[in-house]
Amino acid sequence: MVKARKYVVKKHFQGLPKRDDYELVEYELPPLKDGEILVKAEWVSVDPYLRAYNLRNPVPYDQFGFQVGLVQESKNPNYPAGRRVVSHKGWCDYCIINESQVNIFNVYLLPDMQGLPNELGVGAIGMPGATAYFGLLELCQPKEGETVVVSGAAGAVGTLVGQIAKIKGCRVIGFAGSDDKVAFLEKELGFDKAINYKTADINEALKEAAPKGVDCYFDNVGGQISSIIISQMNEFGRVAVCGSISTYNEDPKQMPKATILQPSLNLKQITVEGFLVHRWSAKEKWPQAFADLIKWIKSGQIKVKSHVTEGFENIFDAFVGMLAGENTGKAVVKI
Ligand code: NDP
Repeated sequence: MVKARKYVVKKHFQGLPKRDDYELVEYELPPLKDGEILVKAEWVSVDPYLRAYNLRNPVPYDQFGFQVGLVQESKNPNYPAGRRVVSHKGWCDYCIINESQVNIFNVYLLPDMQGLPNELGVGAIGMPGATAYFGLLELCQPKEGETVVVSGAAGAVGTLVGQIAKIKGCRVIGFAGSDDKVAFLEKELGFDKAINYKTADINEALKEAAPKGVDCYFDNVGGQISSIIISQMNEFGRVAVCGSISTYNEDPKQMPKATILQPSLNLKQITVEGFLVHRWSAKEKWPQAFADLIKWIKSGQIKVKSHVTEGFENIFDAFVGMLAGENTGKAVVKI
């Protein structure tokens, strides 16, 4: 019998999560049945969408959240013992996976990382990588010489969006929440301009950084900053609405107000499209993104950074830290 631990959310809550909102449960896993595998988690991801889901319903953390794990025992020839899998089994240290019972995100073998660290399986060569790749390239369709703006620029998705846009020959402007993040984006990642949204006059700073206007906006944060950015877009601009982290800890019944967008959208004929990354199937389409991302990382065109927290018992702190902006790059927990 294998003893496993998992986090469960006790109730629907508001504001920044508190430790008391979660419970660490210990339990014994049953013996494997045919088709099942026993997986030991090695890297667990803490992602903003886990907070967003709880705005509507308590998140079943034992079923949601990405992890890279080692197959310890297998009764499924597609996932032999000793191989690594990426799954959506959430904040648990051991789990049993039955391929036919997975949720919207399939379980799949960790791609051949070609020497890159395995934690990227929940980062640039995982769900956030696919999000940046498809959201930018399919929805914004950036063209050489255009100006691309990304908010939440120093995080898992934002760092990749900005660097992919640079590869496509665009001028890239990022918004992030500290001077250190701004310096990282400009000096390490090659953004043309980064702006601290907490201290700058966003309207003036963007006018200066994008004198010819904005063609593409990859929106990770929502709210008033997005209204300001969209008001400076050019005709036929494209907006990919990836997330709205500025609202995830707000009371859904008292959401903050932001400037009305319709005049800009209408007069400038701007396209705004929201998306969820599972639109592009994890098993069929994501590998296409991973092949390009691995190539770009290995060639040095994309730099990746992980913000690593050690220890299963620290997952909660890593999650809250990420929501508070402690991470530069992808927030992950090493188990
Ligand atoms: P990040 O690595 O970017 O981490 C979250 C960051 O959000 C923090 O570091 C913080 O950076 C920033 N943040 C926190 N509060 C606020 C706020 N009030 N206003 C502005 N920024 C804030 O996370 P991800 O890259 O994983 O996710 C980025 C966005 O993409 C999220 O909105 C997420 O929900 C979304 N997403 C959507 C997917 C989809 O399928 N559509 C899939 C994956 C992610 P700072 O210091 O700059 O404030």
